[in-house]
Amino acid sequence: MLHIRDLVKIYPGPVAALKGVSLDIPQGLFGLLGPNGAGKSTLMNILSGLLEPTGGSVTLDGVDIVKDPRAVWSRLGYLPQDFGFYPSLNGAQMLDFLLRLKGVDAPQGRKKLVAELLERVNLTEAAKRKVKTYSGGMRQRLGIAQAIAGNPRLVIVDEPTAGLDPEERQRFYRILAELGRDRIVLLSTHIVEDIATLCPRFAVIRGGRCVTSGSTSEARNRLEGRVSEGIVTPEKLEEIRRSHRVTQAVLVEGSMFRTRVQGAPGSQPTGFVQVPATLEDVYFGVMDESRADDAAHAMNAA
Ligand code: ADP
Repeated sequence: MLHIRDLVKIYPGPVAALKGVSLDIPQGLFGLLGPNGAGKSTLMNILSGLLEPTGGSVTLDGVDIVKDPRAVWSRLGYLPQDFGFYPSLNGAQMLDFLLRLKGVDAPQGRKKLVAELLERVNLTEAAKRKVKTYSGGMRQRLGIAQAIAGNPRLVIVDEPTAGLDPEERQRFYRILAELGRDRIVLLSTHIVEDIATLCPRFAVIRGGRCVTSGSTSEARNRLEGRVSEGIVTPEKLEEIRRSHRVTQAVLVEGSMFRTRVQGAPGSQPTGFVQVPATLEDVYFGVMDESRADDAAHAMNAA
């Protein structure tokens, strides 16, 4: 279990990137969702022991990560957003280099370990190819191979599917799903689909605060019957906004808006039909509520 308590990070400026985040993350895949600037990377960097928090605590299976980052390095695998590669090395050489850098134990020899890891991420056939010829998805898989070397208890992946084509994304999902069977895999992303596909539990952070957390399916079930959709003109959309809670309006064919509304069953605008709730509805609903809370606080403070 990963316990995060009252985590605060204030960068010079000062910028309050985390304003007291508490989360309990059990074994399996856990999704951390939030818009750009929410504080996700700051949180990931603290959990990986790369950044010191201003306050709060983090323990992994009882071991304090903040007090003793070195104690968890060997139990931690990290795939950062920007993973540096040496393009002139081939996949196997690159992985070998990374394992040496990380100081991973290889009782049966590093060559065997490299081969096993490449097999695990489906890169055996590309082992002798230079990394510069790899696709984005192949690079990400090589990144995962180094992250899981040494069989870490906690694997952290930051925005792993940004820039992957749909097929590569599916392949990457399968690898992450397998990893989540016997360890904690923390997946930070702004792509809701990643979490909906992979994570039984999730949290949303916004403005350095955790605005919701819990079971993905329960959050979706709570919205069931409350979401409706219709395709309307921009004028109609403005009208609906005045009387309903619009959580999403997506331009279709350049002139109309596919509009989703949340509210009590039966209260939908004329012509709208009830649709199954998705995790996107949960996300947009939570973001909307959180913005409304901020606005209310700002009004009270003024
Ligand atoms: P996310 O990963 O969700 O996009 P970040 O953790 O990168 O969010 O950033 C959270 C906030 O902290 C943002 O306002 C960002 O501008 C700020 N921030 C991030 N890193 C630094 C830094 N090194 N110095 C000052 N401010 C920073």
